[in-house]
Amino acid sequence: GNPLFRDMPTTVFEVMSQLALKHRAINLGQGFPDDRGPADVLRAAADALLDGYNQYPSMMGTPELRQAVAAHARRFYGLEVDWAREVLVTSGATEALGACLLGLIEPGDEVVLFEPMYDSYLPIVRLAGGIPRIVTLKAPDWSFTREDLERVFGPKTKALVLNNPLNPVGKVYSRAELELIGEFMRRFDAYAVCDEVYEHLVFDGARHIPLITIPGLRDRCLRVGSAGKTFSLTGWKIGYVTGVPELLQPVAKAHQFMTFTTAPNLQAGVAYGLAKEEAYFTGLAASMQAKRDRLAAGLREAGLSVLHSGGTYFLIADISSTGFDGDDVAFCLKLTEEAGVTAIPVSAFFAESPVRNFIRFCFCKQDALLDEAVARLKRYF
Ligand code: PMP
Ligand code: GLN
Repeated sequence: GNPLFRDMPTTVFEVMSQLALKHRAINLGQGFPDDRGPADVLRAAADALLDGYNQYPSMMGTPELRQAVAAHARRFYGLEVDWAREVLVTSGATEALGACLLGLIEPGDEVVLFEPMYDSYLPIVRLAGGIPRIVTLKAPDWSFTREDLERVFGPKTKALVLNNPLNPVGKVYSRAELELIGEFMRRFDAYAVCDEVYEHLVFDGARHIPLITIPGLRDRCLRVGSAGKTFSLTGWKIGYVTGVPELLQPVAKAHQFMTFTTAPNLQAGVAYGLAKEEAYFTGLAASMQAKRDRLAAGLREAGLSVLHSGGTYFLIADISSTGFDGDDVAFCLKLTEEAGVTAIPVSAFFAESPVRNFIRFCFCKQDALLDEAVARLKRYF
């Protein structure tokens, strides 16, 4: 096989989920909710399936879903989007990211990445022949400086990938940070692939700011969303990309030979869901925020120190205070085997300068499960 894939380890999410199964551990590793998702969204998809929405839809996505994506962008961000020319539906954000990067990057192009980063970015950048230029965000607030950007941007910069809110650490980029990134994009004539799958999981009254809404960046950004996170239906794999036609066109060309299209009945469910009342979206964030607080308090009581998380499904615990003499990977292994709780070692999200004292817990679970995990950890430590 291609050495890029042959020599690649299986993703940390799959590995840790298998390990959790083997040891019957509570799986707070891989990020997926354990509730059933909004019943009306499920019904809209089920109705569409029974009504015969089961043949290939348009390669760009069903008109209903593309219209819903455009209406959602206007409603939440005041962004005017031409649904017919500026929206592409994909098989999850994973495919959207692949299609964006393969569509944009030419061999030798430099691509700016911020670590910790989601595990699919680097392999796809490499597959496209791109050269990664990595900014390492600094704990505990995962900050970066103008000098960090000066070091990685240059005449060969084609694009950057920005995940906001940031998996695995829950960083929510400030407007000032986004403006600084935008300044470099304009100066170096660069594009951005904006992974915003956690756009509706932002806490403490903050509002998500899409990079594409920063002045001057409308025609430089491809904004990626996912129904998985917005409707707690991670298995549906419905993603969407928004961007100007000139940028979206090569992305659609990549998409047409990867998946071509994605299930029309699920697209109908998501189109229905994106038009749901405001209370659904605020309720989702409020419920996740309460879970964040519940797990954070429990982990602290168990003796772990916990970093602030302003968004996503995740929070980070610092294992240095436990006195464990090993790295995050060994810690997560031991925690699964001996405490019966699974977390994800955060070093898996770094390519250049890994930190090895952080582990990621997923809190999008039933309260009873979070409580049981905390009880196990308290007994263990
Ligand atoms: N980007 C990030 C940051 C994610 O956390 C995930 C999945 N959890 C994805 C992309 C992939 O989303 P999807 O399941 O829609 O492919
Ligand atoms: N995005 C999910 C997480 O970070 C995992 C998705 C996957 O397993 N590929 O946990």
